[in-house]
Amino acid sequence: MKRLYVATHNAHKTREISQILPGWEIVPDDPTGVEENAPDFSGNALIKVRAIASRHRGEWCMADDSGLEVAALGGEPGVRSARYAGEPTDSAKNNALLLKNLSGVEDRRANFTCAIALVGPDGAEHVVSGRCYGRIALAPSGAAGFGYDPLFVPDGYDKSFAELSADEKNAISHRGRALEKVRAIL
Ligand code: IMP
Repeated sequence: MKRLYVATHNAHKTREISQILPGWEIVPDDPTGVEENAPDFSGNALIKVRAIASRHRGEWCMADDSGLEVAALGGEPGVRSARYAGEPTDSAKNNALLLKNLSGVEDRRANFTCAIALVGPDGAEHVVSGRCYGRIALAPSGAAGFGYDPLFVPDGYDKSFAELSADEKNAISHRGRALEKVRAIL
C-alpha cells in the first residue's frame, strides 16, 4: 500500500482522508510545536507540510489547513477557527461564541475553506484548495463530525454537517473537494 504522511493529530480528519483516498495508508505525524503564523490557509498548510517532510524525505507528505469564514464577520474566524474562543481549542465554546457574535444578524452566509499542501518524493511542492458554501444555523444540531459541523448548513441542504453521514459530508465538503484535487496529483 502506498504511504501518505499527514500532518495532523485530529483523528476525525485522518478518518475522512482515509475514506477519500482508498489505497493509501494514511500515517499521521503530529506537527505540534510548529507555529502556524501565516495569514492564510495555504501558507499554514505549507508551514506544516514542510515541517513533516523534513522527517520523511523521499515520501509523499501532506498537510491541510482549514477553517470557517463568515461573511457578516468579515471572514472571521478564518485562520483563527480552532482558537476562536481562546486556547486550548474548545469546539463548544467556539460554537457558542460564533452564535453570540451572530445574534440578531440576518446574513448567515459562511463557507468552509480547506487548503492542502503536498510535498512529493522528489521534493516538489503542490497546493490545492476546496470550498463549501452554506449558512450558520440559529442553533446547533447533530452529533457527527467535529468543530463547527453542528452549526454549518451547506447550500442545498436543510441539515447541518453534523447530521450528514461521513460519505454525504465528504462528497460536498471543502476537504473532500480539495482531496479530489490531491487524488489527481498523487
Ligand atoms: P485545521 O487548522 O484544519 O485543523 O482547522 C481549524 C479549525 O477549523 C478546526 O479546529 C475546526 O474548528 C474548523 N474546521 C475545519 N474543518 C472543519 C470541518 O470539516 N467541520 C467543522 N469544523 C472544521
